[in-house]
Amino acid sequence: MSQQTSSMEKPVLTEKSTFKFACGDTLPCFTQCCRDVNIYLTPYDILRLRRALGLSSGEFLHRHTQHFLAGSTGIPVVQLAMNSQNLYCQFVTPEGCRVYSDRPWACRMYPLDLGNREGEYHLIVNHEKCLGLLEPNVQTVGEYLENQGVQPYVEMEQAFQQVLPPGFKPQKSLGASLGKLLFLAYDLDRFAQLLKDRKFVSFYELDEALLLEAQEDDEALLKLAFQYVNLQAEELLSMF
Ligand code: SF4
Ligand code: SF4
Repeated sequence: MSQQTSSMEKPVLTEKSTFKFACGDTLPCFTQCCRDVNIYLTPYDILRLRRALGLSSGEFLHRHTQHFLAGSTGIPVVQLAMNSQNLYCQFVTPEGCRVYSDRPWACRMYPLDLGNREGEYHLIVNHEKCLGLLEPNVQTVGEYLENQGVQPYVEMEQAFQQVLPPGFKPQKSLGASLGKLLFLAYDLDRFAQLLKDRKFVSFYELDEALLLEAQEDDEALLKLAFQYVNLQAEELLSMF
């Protein structure tokens, strides 16, 4: 986000650390944190948002994101698009976030962010920008994250991080192949199209139980996409 400062300068927090914070529409800064921010979306963020908006994954990606394969690594980068005129998030209203119950992981974490090591967090903004940090409401980081409903986001992202083999380092020689493969997890409807081909399903020996579940359940479809990307990535990487 634009207000971010380096995590090196910020005290490290753990789930047991306490901090003062409360957000609300009476604060002068209300919705200012939804303007001119870099919000990186995960595959699960997209699943939740496009379902809430009743859009296909392709439509959502086209209308509400900027996405590309990073030049140096070829890994997909998907960012929430801001309104090009006023730089506000396209989902903000005078009353607040119109996709609040399905808002992205980064929005749920705010004003916190992940630290450099597992279980570590830090504040990414100070009380001059985020007046909620001056409110008297004290809570632990763990309580805050639980109230924000971050757990399913954490679990899905951990699963996504495991689709590539441990110790994998992006290689230029892979070109865009790996990035395009990983992008299937963001564009789930395209993956669902592939599943309609029985030959495809049997060739990759995808989990039959998960396959049945995936016909009705978006979360199961995403897990199946992770499984497919993992199988394909191993094959791809073995060729280099
Ligand atoms: S800046 Fe902080 S207090 Fe103000 S609206 Fe955003 S999160 Fe809430
Ligand atoms: S998705 Fe909602 S909470 Fe996140 S920046 Fe947009 S309006 Fe703000």
